[in-house]
Amino acid sequence: MTVATPSSLYADLNVDAQPDAPLASRTWYGVGGKADVLITPRDLASLAMLMRRCHRDQVPVRILGSGANLLVSDAGVDGVVISLDAPELRTVEYNQQGSVEVVRAWGGASTEKLVQELARRGLAGLEQMAGIPSSIGGALRMNAGGKFGCIGDAVHSVAVMGPDGSERIYLRESLAFDYRHTNIPEGVILWAVLQLREEDPLTVRSRLKEYFSYKKNSQPMSDQSSGCMFKNPLLADGTRESAGKLIDLAKLKGFRLGSAFVSPKHANFISVDAVGGRASDIAAISQQIIARVFDAHGITLEREVVFWGADIE
Ligand SMILES: Cc1cc2nc3c(=O)[nH]c(=O)nc-3n(C[C@H](O)[C@H](O)[C@H](O)COP(=O)(O)OP(=O)(O)OC[C@H]3O[C@@H](n4cnc5c(N)ncnc54)[C@H](O)[C@@H]3O)c2cc1C
Repeated sequence: MTVATPSSLYADLNVDAQPDAPLASRTWYGVGGKADVLITPRDLASLAMLMRRCHRDQVPVRILGSGANLLVSDAGVDGVVISLDAPELRTVEYNQQGSVEVVRAWGGASTEKLVQELARRGLAGLEQMAGIPSSIGGALRMNAGGKFGCIGDAVHSVAVMGPDGSERIYLRESLAFDYRHTNIPEGVILWAVLQLREEDPLTVRSRLKEYFSYKKNSQPMSDQSSGCMFKNPLLADGTRESAGKLIDLAKLKGFRLGSAFVSPKHANFISVDAVGGRASDIAAISQQIIARVFDAHGITLEREVVFWGADIE
């Protein structure tokens, strides 16, 4: 850990600040060390001021969503970790005047809760996110999705707060949503307007159920993991190969290194023991998998999971 982050960056702002904040319990991996300081701004103005000051003083800023695609180093991370978990930044607004199908979801909102609420209201278009643990901001940053589509499919516009605290709105036409990637600029994803459509609530709900049970049957949803560790690599012919299949063919299903192991159910899920789990084991097994898949197939896997911390980034 480097020099402690000065409290003058945030002491006078409307924020909840927790120095030396353990991050393990805020990630799905459930491992890793502390944030130098974890800050939850209670309003947009405080978030903007914090971003501006960190930018001015070159203090590293990291944005924490629901921690479902994140590995935090055992040594923790320096600088400021920002959570959008305050009510103002995790709200969902339903249009009261114009078309009812337009919903604005703030970055800290839970995608899982939102898909349930949309089904209840008979609003279709986000069922592809069933069973994908995420905040709206994290889902957009990763363009999360799967067999049934991605979050980008429903996006009308996105607001981003840049590192200097300025806000900009990007309309759909200027945004690209590709496989686990978007061109949304660097900064805090504040909100997205989602374009949905009215449909019978029972139909939306049954689609949600169908998608969720597909996921549950094919993936180890209750393991401590971050979902798929690697992106499906792009082949020369423009198609994507399943990273899980490549890992499986390299005979790595069930392979273990310390507390980390390749899930016997889905080879692209790298899980960790619930007791004694270490981020360093997960980082090390990931490197080994990359090397062994390359030896077996001549293909270099690219990580999907985001790693935080100087020793593993
Ligand atoms: C059991 C399980 C199953 C999964 N299945 C899938 C799946 O089917 N498909 C899929 O795509 N993913 C899947 N994942 C991975 C994960 O759900 C997604 O990547 C999700 O989008 C992560 O969102 P998050 O809010 O947890 O982001 P985090 O993990 O908290 O953060 C991920 C990245 O997004 C950034 N970020 C978060 N919030 C913001 C914000 N507001 N502004 C800017 N940047 C932000 C973070 O800084 C980080 O770089 C799975 C994970 C688990 C644990």
